[in-house]
Amino acid sequence: MTTAHAITCPDVTTNLSAEAAMVQKALTDKGLETPLVHNGLDRDEKYARIRDAFTEIAQVLGLDLRDDSLRETPHRIAKMYVDEIFSGLDYAKFPSISVIDNKMQVEEMVCIDKIDLVSTCEHHFVTIDGSARVAYIPRHRIIGLSKINRIVRFFSQRPQVQERLTQQILVALQTLLETDDVAVTVNAVHYCVKSRGVMDSNSTTRTTALGGAFKTDASTRGEFLG
Ligand SMILES: [Zn+2]
Repeated sequence: MTTAHAITCPDVTTNLSAEAAMVQKALTDKGLETPLVHNGLDRDEKYARIRDAFTEIAQVLGLDLRDDSLRETPHRIAKMYVDEIFSGLDYAKFPSISVIDNKMQVEEMVCIDKIDLVSTCEHHFVTIDGSARVAYIPRHRIIGLSKINRIVRFFSQRPQVQERLTQQILVALQTLLETDDVAVTVNAVHYCVKSRGVMDSNSTTRTTALGGAFKTDASTRGEFLG
């Protein structure tokens, strides 16, 4: 069996914002990019092929797609995958980020808690439902707070493993804010644990990624994790 490793093709990075290209490069350089192969399919081609593939899955399961409740399901799945829950695979959809100079000389930690996070487990293609806490210590640049939510959402809208998702948010913010002093925790329920397998409805998974002072300074780390 061959495994697809992260491949950066030159044409993947065309028509991207400078911010998206910088983040993509930083993740690739650190080996934290989602394993991707550039297949050259445009939106409509992806859409048609997912619709046909899901039609086949439904038929194999024995579902009658002539039923009016099911008829549009392959179409809905294709649209949902491409435009919504996996739209974060496309860097052309990276949120436009306005990072501004830190003229106010903010030096204290900025922390945003309880950021809604809904992602999809790449091992089972079912929901990961949780929240993120993100903090940074401004150096030369600060970022609009809603932009942090948008970055969390962008990387959540991929097939994910929670550890990689946490690291991708960290590195994206470090890159855009031009500082290592960023910290991210994600706390989430995995529906592949809740709805199948061990059927555990109470366990949550917590992952943490720390950079700069959050890693080296115990009191900064304590303030964030506390
Ligand atoms: Zn899973």
